[in-house]
Amino acid sequence: MLYQSTRVDEKRISSAEAIAFGLSKDGGLFVPEVFPNLPSETLNQLVSESYDRRAAYIMSLFLRDFTIDELYGYTELVYGASKSNGFYYDRIVPVYKLNDNTSFLELWHGPTCAFKDMALQIMPLLLSASLKKIGESREVCILVATSGDTGKAALEGFKDVPGTKIMVFYPQDGVSDVQKMQMTSQSGENVNVVAVEGNFDDAQSGVKSVFSDEALRDDLSERGYFLSSANSINWGRLVPQVVYYISAYCDLVKNGSIISGEKINFCVPTGNFGNILAGYYAERIGLPVNRLICASNRNDVLTQFINTGVYDKNRPFYTTVSPSMDILVSSNLERLLFELSGKDGKMVEAYMSKLSKSGYYAVPDSVHVELGRVFSSGYCSEEDTKKTIGDTFKKSGYLIDTHTAVAYKVLGDYRAATGDDTLSVVVSTASPFKFNEAVLAALGQPVEGSGVTMLENLSDVTGCAIPAPLVELKNTIPRFSDTVTIKDMKKAVTDFLYERLGH
Ligand SMILES: *Cc1c(COP(=O)(O)O)cnc(C)c1O
Repeated sequence: MLYQSTRVDEKRISSAEAIAFGLSKDGGLFVPEVFPNLPSETLNQLVSESYDRRAAYIMSLFLRDFTIDELYGYTELVYGASKSNGFYYDRIVPVYKLNDNTSFLELWHGPTCAFKDMALQIMPLLLSASLKKIGESREVCILVATSGDTGKAALEGFKDVPGTKIMVFYPQDGVSDVQKMQMTSQSGENVNVVAVEGNFDDAQSGVKSVFSDEALRDDLSERGYFLSSANSINWGRLVPQVVYYISAYCDLVKNGSIISGEKINFCVPTGNFGNILAGYYAERIGLPVNRLICASNRNDVLTQFINTGVYDKNRPFYTTVSPSMDILVSSNLERLLFELSGKDGKMVEAYMSKLSKSGYYAVPDSVHVELGRVFSSGYCSEEDTKKTIGDTFKKSGYLIDTHTAVAYKVLGDYRAATGDDTLSVVVSTASPFKFNEAVLAALGQPVEGSGVTMLENLSDVTGCAIPAPLVELKNTIPRFSDTVTIKDMKKAVTDFLYERLGH
């Protein structure tokens, strides 16, 4: 099985090349040329397997130039039973049953307490192996623009991985106290963290312009470096995410909530469209899915798109209590458009160039109808996000974070509007402790001091334990304090690579 660009380049490449290159030369993203198939008997066999075994099998369907044993070597290391992995909970991705038709898929028991760990703990291993497979000898420097969670997860995944450097840019005022402290206190010899004056989209476009600077690329190459990305446009980020949709399904069969073959819904708090896209891929390879419900916060550009077929980013950008979803340009949507348009790369390229010129495109009815085949969507206001956290805790004693609350509210609205009572899984993307200021406020508690000192308040009020990786935060000292303007981002990269690391 080979990979192709979502745009006009007709070249076919291997999975290792797709992971190593990150982005296609024509600006497109890599997608599988054909989808593999997950037969229902195989799905049934996975029910009795551990998460690491499920992961190796499912990833092997997509990564055909890796053997299953090779992949199992990585998945066992990352998601296996040994306590040396970064996951602090013995069930890597527990499914929490709230009631008979609602469960929460908790994706935040990794080292940074957000779902990004699911992919970013293993992606550095896939990338290193891919670089070896294609004969690349230069060192890779990973550049990341983050809305908060990706940055920390990428730092944890890449820290001290031989042959790699990593540099993270975060929007100065766009992340929570806990997120900021997690990043600025990062350990490792090959890491750097810098704040950017601007919002996430500014930081992301700054990183993109560094990537597209050809003179810089040549200069770096002469010094033995090349740039790559850990953002969710890399295929190595998406494949590990397909696994947990299938794993959740297996767990629901195992605990008797559904019978094998029964369709379920997933409701996903969405930003860059990476998480829910992995759910779409799971459906495409054969997972019994009824609806994928895309939940947005106040930045509801995706909800508008799914409802109307019009993508329009010409609108105000809001900073919300669910900052990891504060995004107006959802990069991975391009991959979905490619599938929905019948793999019409010319059409995708036309939309993307319209988007960058005028901030707007409209898909034809045929594509919009295809979109509605599995996707539904809705958005949740700031007020409703907080109310949902408070109500859920009061009613059932289950504590959820701001992002998960957006999804849970949207699921409720979807059910009220459609009467669909299919068993639904809310994809829970972060520990509530990561966003404790907003969560405390939602519970009607006073919010004073920094988010880091308030971890204990939230634990006292709710009786929930602070996740192990956050316990130590209040005793750590920040290592990184630089802030740069967008136009100085390139200089920050060269300062890091040329001076501090002594090349
Ligand atoms: C990144 C993130 C999201 C959004 O996921 P996408 O793949 O970008 O759609 C939602 N919630 C949390 C907590 C996140 O970190």
